[in-house]
Amino acid sequence: CGIVAIVGKTQVAPLIVDALKRLEYRGYDSAGVATIERGELARRRAEGKLVNLENRLKDEPLFGTIGIGHTRWATHGVPNETNAHPHFSGGVAVVHNGIIENFAELRDELAADGYQFTSQTDTEVVAHLVARELKRGAAPVEAAHAALKRLQGAFALAIMFKGDDDLVVGARNGPPLAVGHGEGEMFLGSDAIALAPFTNSITYLEDGDWVVVRHAGVSIFDIDGNAVERRRQQSLGAS
Ligand code: GLU
Repeated sequence: CGIVAIVGKTQVAPLIVDALKRLEYRGYDSAGVATIERGELARRRAEGKLVNLENRLKDEPLFGTIGIGHTRWATHGVPNETNAHPHFSGGVAVVHNGIIENFAELRDELAADGYQFTSQTDTEVVAHLVARELKRGAAPVEAAHAALKRLQGAFALAIMFKGDDDLVVGARNGPPLAVGHGEGEMFLGSDAIALAPFTNSITYLEDGDWVVVRHAGVSIFDIDGNAVERRRQQSLGAS
């Protein structure tokens, strides 16, 4: 399973699929990618191998210079297209590796608040939590931070917001997540190998970190919202 995100300068969907291929060794049962296309969230998802997603994209290309991608190893909900990530709610797109341990409690709370679940995944609560914060008036970064504070369990996450093609929020608590530094474009990936075609300048997030990713650079915070410094290093053998 794996995550890739690109806040980029060119068409990102094919780049994201190529990066996901570099994470195939981790195993997965379905895959998906979302971009912001003319201001709106758009996605393609497919059960099975990445070639299925590629074929889908051949028939119906996804445009956009920002995007998030995912290979899923199902833990909650069968491996099918509906449960494949990215998950959407109210202008928020989310990909997730890991398990949200308190998802049942959060799902009940969100359902009572009128949020309708379209998948059987634990992940979908994250999309609704962030969307609810936006609806309550929070700005995107603030909404993501508020949602992260509610999550228990293991997660690597990438979150994208309709209407903002200069923002991805990433978070790590358990499964690895690395930032890749480009020139005027930035990347997230489950490991440096995924990002090797783009950059070998890498910052590994630590557990509890979350990161605001924009074209111009990244800012990393702890769960209380304090800025933290993480070392930037050259990954070896990248090509
Ligand atoms: N728990 C999530 C799901 O079942 C994410 C699984 C993964 O790590 O890919 O959809």
